[in-house]
Amino acid sequence: MKFADLHLHTTASDGYDTLDTRLRDAKSKGISCVAVTDHDTLHPSLDQPVQYIEDVEVISGSEIEVEIEGFKIDLLAYFVHRGDNEFSELVDDIYERRVERMKEMVDRVNEMIDSRIFFEEVRDIADNVLVRPHLGKVLVEKGEAEDLDGAYDKFISSENHAYVPLDVIGSEELIDMIHRCGGVVSLAHPGRSIPKKDFPRILGKLVDQGLDAIEAEYYYRGFDISEEIFFGNYLARKYALEHNLVITGGSDCHGSSSDHYTLGKKRLFYGYVRELKKRWEEVKEET
Ligand SMILES: [Zn+2]
Repeated sequence: MKFADLHLHTTASDGYDTLDTRLRDAKSKGISCVAVTDHDTLHPSLDQPVQYIEDVEVISGSEIEVEIEGFKIDLLAYFVHRGDNEFSELVDDIYERRVERMKEMVDRVNEMIDSRIFFEEVRDIADNVLVRPHLGKVLVEKGEAEDLDGAYDKFISSENHAYVPLDVIGSEELIDMIHRCGGVVSLAHPGRSIPKKDFPRILGKLVDQGLDAIEAEYYYRGFDISEEIFFGNYLARKYALEHNLVITGGSDCHGSSSDHYTLGKKRLFYGYVRELKKRWEEVKEET
């Protein structure tokens, strides 16, 4: 029996382990296919839609935040890679926006603390795309917070003064672009995105915009999700059937030293990867 995990992060975004470490780890947990879905970026060493590294089948992907009707949701792009010029440009543009946003967040943090943080210190601990945990780590190093959670509570959660929202692109624009690049789009963790009462309408809209898949095998444990929003994989599967969407799934593992070390907790039967590849072939024929 072959298993896959189609949602993982590495040090290319906010994961704590390198791709090599993650692949060795996957293998030891009986997972022979993974998708690397770092936030707002493409892993620099993946230049093919699918490649084999140390006997693990690796699908290149990305997890990108988009806006739809005022809600922010994450879409997973599969089979996009560093060889796609248009997609590379998009992630490079998001990278620049994140740099500017981080500079502003550092300025705001400095208004709140006695010591001083420099943007370069945050940049130096990031392998690639700059995300809030990088700033959080510097705050911990400087003794301004006890741990990452503390840094969020005091400084960088969305309710805090130092938080600067990130401008994101619209869902339709991203779905079109992923298709133009020959990629397939899945809605990430549907049960932790938007209020349940709005979900069916938003999903219908995403389907009209060309959504291919839904992450209906997701590891939800460890997230604090409000009652108003949360629903589990069972309902997500019903939505998949209703809209004829391919099912994707994964652990959303962020690494062995993170508080979301979930590799192996959600293993997907390889048959789902076959379905995803079928959809990929269709997308490539259509574009
Ligand atoms: Zn993720």
